[in-house]
Amino acid sequence: MGNWQKEINTVVLMFMGVALVGWATGLFMPLLFMLMAAIIMRQVVMINRFEKWISKGGRGKYPKVTGIWETIYYHVYRIKKDEKRRKKKFRKIIDQFRQSTEALPDAAVVLGTHDEIDWANKAARDVFGLQASDKGQRIPNLIRYPEFIRYLKSGNFQESVFLPSPVDHRIILEVRVVPYGAGLRLLLAQDVTQLKKMERMRKDFVANVSHELRTPLTVLKGYLETLQDMDDGHSPLLTNSFQQMRGQTERMQHLVDDLLLLTRLETQQKKTQCVDVPALLSQICQEGDSLENDARRIQLTLESPAHIVGEEQELRSAFTNLLGNALKYSPDDSLVKVRWYQEHKAFVLSVEDYGEGIAKTDIPRVTERFYRVEAKRAKKVTGTGLGLAIVKHVLMRHDARLSITSELGKGSCFSCHFPLTRRCN
Ligand code: ADP
Repeated sequence: MGNWQKEINTVVLMFMGVALVGWATGLFMPLLFMLMAAIIMRQVVMINRFEKWISKGGRGKYPKVTGIWETIYYHVYRIKKDEKRRKKKFRKIIDQFRQSTEALPDAAVVLGTHDEIDWANKAARDVFGLQASDKGQRIPNLIRYPEFIRYLKSGNFQESVFLPSPVDHRIILEVRVVPYGAGLRLLLAQDVTQLKKMERMRKDFVANVSHELRTPLTVLKGYLETLQDMDDGHSPLLTNSFQQMRGQTERMQHLVDDLLLLTRLETQQKKTQCVDVPALLSQICQEGDSLENDARRIQLTLESPAHIVGEEQELRSAFTNLLGNALKYSPDDSLVKVRWYQEHKAFVLSVEDYGEGIAKTDIPRVTERFYRVEAKRAKKVTGTGLGLAIVKHVLMRHDARLSITSELGKGSCFSCHFPLTRRCN
């Protein structure tokens, strides 16, 4: 039988006792009144005791009581105990999490809504030179690189930013912010010094090899031209060999030129001027048309007179590559549309062809270096696989982006989107 039932039984028994005695003595009402007063008094005393116990946090064992109050005390005691256990478990999880993040080789800093430091692990304290007393300080006051402050303010955390460590400038850090929760941010930094060094070595190697190959190739091509001039055509084998050798040498020269251009794009400082894009496009399209043997295939539409801030030579090679591809990867008699126009957020150059198109799975890969789609083509199409990598790099240096839409067998449209802020006329 539960305590609640016992409590009811006791009260009922007491009422019955009072009724019995009251009936025998004729004092039913006064006795009933006394009983009720006693019950109320008892409850008031119990409530008072309970209030005292709970106001002290309900800590420790509860006072010795009987009846329903014992059950109430027991329930509250159990809830408190469970809560304590849960808190302990939770604290243990947090401790474990802190210990593991503390041991992480990468730096992690938890930032508050105003970019103040909430917590930082050991690696963060080491690479950023943070101290325990810096807790609560705003991070831009401690890491004062302008590019970092710009990055933090921009709110665009898709990409990371590279900074030297404030403690040791030889250490290069890749810093990234990950927003989470309501306005909170996690700042992560990784030591990429070795990676950057390797990248530098790769670039230097490619640049040196390409540069060194240039002279021998020019010599070879020169001799081949002389030999071709001397060829009297008596031996078809020889004539064909000369032709093949010259074709391959030219291909190698293109490769070397493209590699050198890519290296320059990766390493050289940007030089900017105001580029007259409509004039540049007219020139490129004219050159493109004159290369074509047959009728004019290029349709140029200049809907915007906008000039943009940029590097003319770089833009020329990017646009030439796009136009060259459109001509290469479409039938000799099909149209290629070049358009320069303004959208609500960008100036756009689009190059559209009605050629072979690109499969959906290949689209994300065509801008990779040396990536060439293997397709069954009627005509042999030569290329280095570096053209679109060059386009991507040039656009990156102009804060622009490349978008590609294409359908196999129908054609492709390559569009370069330049921010409106680049306009300069
Ligand atoms: P490539 O020197 O081979 O043309 P690119 O980097 O310019 O190198 O292009 C990479 C690949 O993307 C090409 O080999 C081709 O398969 C594909 N591609 C590029 N432009 C087009 C286009 N307009 N139509 C169809 N395929 C294209």
